[in-house]
Amino acid sequence: MMPFRYARATSVPQAIAAAGEPETAFLAGGSELLNWMRLGITAPARIVDISRLEELAQITPLSNGGLRIGALCRLNDVAQDERVARGYPALSIAILKAASPQIRNLATLGGNLLQRTRCAYFRAEEELPCNKRRPGSGCAAMEGHHERHAIFGWSERCIATLPSDPAVALAALDATVVATRPQGERRVPVRSFHTLPGTQPEVDHVLRLGELITAIELGPPAPRSSYLKVRERESYEYALVSAAVALDLDGQRIRRARIALGSVAHRPWRLEASEAALVGVQIGDTPAIRKSIAASFADSRTLPGNAYKVPMAKNAAERALAMAAGASA
Ligand code: SF4
Repeated sequence: MMPFRYARATSVPQAIAAAGEPETAFLAGGSELLNWMRLGITAPARIVDISRLEELAQITPLSNGGLRIGALCRLNDVAQDERVARGYPALSIAILKAASPQIRNLATLGGNLLQRTRCAYFRAEEELPCNKRRPGSGCAAMEGHHERHAIFGWSERCIATLPSDPAVALAALDATVVATRPQGERRVPVRSFHTLPGTQPEVDHVLRLGELITAIELGPPAPRSSYLKVRERESYEYALVSAAVALDLDGQRIRRARIALGSVAHRPWRLEASEAALVGVQIGDTPAIRKSIAASFADSRTLPGNAYKVPMAKNAAERALAMAAGASA
């Protein structure tokens, strides 16, 4: 590990000012940053500890009926907040399916959005071809192990996925990331906060130098929402596929459906064609629901090792939709 300078921010403006300085990394929960440093993925010259900024660890109501969740709120505190659990069950469930209880006690919601892909080549301790880690070196996963990799939105340079569970629920709930700089706040929808790999797979998100995530904002409650995570072991594992659904119903008919899939792309993947096709469909009309969900899969592209994700993702979306419909509003 390379030597670094350490400083503790004692106020939010001080932390935001530090965001503009190159070679600086922020320490919040530390559950990702320390991994990156141990593996040599990053070697910041300076670490600014923001973990004790209580001002960024509050959940406060918004005038539109929504919630503002401070970026430094610990995952378990968010999931167990009664306003979140009742108003946004998809988010609460997604958080409780993430990592282990011990990690959730430490990791923050803002930090969770910034975690990087779990692609084994990216996280390898030896040098392997990985355009995300070393631009221009190639992509070992393309011909190698890509069982957990993307089926939507990938490029020839990178087929990695985003591993975050909360991001998927937040994308289905149309939440926004509040990025703050000295000049003020910028709001970015969670669904477009993470970038697709394209020709620059080393870039993960749209946060700019000089900006710090200070909050995540939720709109009015979505009590009919749910999250389903499919993984190899229930105790502690990243998703093979996940699905978050938020529903507005008119009796048994769908007025509006919002569906996001996880672990299928480099960002939470909204099923826009499915959402449009589901308007007016009866909750019990399984053939119509399956046909609507399938509409979004015309854009999927698989490799030999990850084709199983297509039927798995369709089934996950269907089951998450049924769970959301069954939730009490
Ligand atoms: Fe690297 Fe992306 Fe290829 Fe994985 S999929 S080896 S992260 S370039």
